[in-house]
Order: sequence, then C-alpha cells, then structure tokens
Amino acid sequence: MSVRIVLLGPPGAGKGTQAARLAEKLGVEAISTGDIFRANIKGETELGKLAQEYTSRGELVPDSVTNAMVRDKLASKIDGDAQTLGFILDGYPRNVAQVEELDAILSEFGVALDGAVEITADGDIVTERLLKRAEIEGRADDTEPVIRHRLAVYAEQTAPISAVYAQRSALVQVDGIGDVDEVTDRLLAALESFDDQ
Ligand code: AMP
Repeated sequence: MSVRIVLLGPPGAGKGTQAARLAEKLGVEAISTGDIFRANIKGETELGKLAQEYTSRGELVPDSVTNAMVRDKLASKIDGDAQTLGFILDGYPRNVAQVEELDAILSEFGVALDGAVEITADGDIVTERLLKRAEIEGRADDTEPVIRHRLAVYAEQTAPISAVYAQRSALVQVDGIGDVDEVTDRLLAALESFDDQ
C-alpha cells in the first residue's frame, strides 16, 4: 500500500522540511505546490508569470490554475496501476474548494487519501521562523508585510480545512515545536493511526 497524505499547518510550521524527510523515509514523492510555482517563476514560464502576481502578494493562486497543476502532476505519476500512486502533498489543498477538488481527482483515479496530518505551531513562533528564513533563503514572499498577509490568508482560508478532515476522522495533529528529528518521529508515529482505517 502506498502512502497518500496531505500535510497541513501554517506557513513556517516546517511542512517543507518535514515533507522531504517523510518522503525519504516512506519512499514516496513530496509534492509542494509552492515549490512548483517557484520553479515556474524562476523559469519564467507562462504559469510562473501568472503565479508570481499572487505569490508576491501572499495571495492564493486561483484554484482553476492550482487544481489543474495538481491534477496533471498526480496523473503524470500514475504509471499503469493507480493503486501504486503515493504522495505527500505539501501546501495543497489550501482551501475547502481544493479539498473537494482533491477528492474528485482521487476518486477519478480510484484511490483514497490516508488522511491529513496537521503540524501545529503558534503564530508568534511561525512569524519569527519565517523572518529568519527570509534572511537565509531570501524568498521573495518572506518580507514582513507579505508574511503577515500569508498568515491572515491561512487563518481565513486554510485553517478551516482541518475541520473538514476531522469530520471524516481523517485528521491527526502533531506539535511542530521542537527539534526537527523529534517532530519527524512524532509525524511517523501519528501516521500509524491511519493504518487500520
Ligand atoms: P508555500 O511555499 O506553500 O508557502 O507557497 C508559497 C505561495 O505559493 C503561497 O503563498 C501561494 O501564493 C502559492 N500557493 C502554494 N500552494 C498553493 C495552493 N494550494 N493554492 C493557491 N496558491 C498556492
């Protein structure tokens, strides 16, 4: 059985770092919509030009664009048998409409999500982490006003999707504060709760 999970949590909670670690341990690909947008922006593709208008302001890229991109990415991973499709989605879904779209994509493929894992972290801590990351990585959307806006967009549009997965008994929450290895161990332990579902 392949692992199919979505990783939730505010910007700065460590989703990217943990998605990469889990992907390696579990032998599946981590798919980050933010990384795909950044690669397109760097490559100056049409998708990149469009995405940049939104990412630079900390707004969500329109669902029509993002959903089509994720659908193509997942479809391209299916090599014959869809049952072997495995992934860790980082940064998608990001609103309730995207949750519904992911449901539709997976049901079309005839596969199910194991569940959603939410990395929790307090607002002050994530703001501090993002400002620090800004100094190190120089991400264009890590300036203070844009960080504040991304956190507001998260609270308004993304945070509500945890309740959607919780209602399906498909949500586990993991404390994202602490040592990186420790958080990975917590995530791996949390994933075991999906095994018997
Ligand atoms: P991230 O690297 O996940 O923090 O994403 C960086 C930016 O890419 C976000 O602030 C959005 O502008 C855009 N983005 C990433 N994922 C999505 C998504 N699922 N829906 C819409 N926009 C997204």
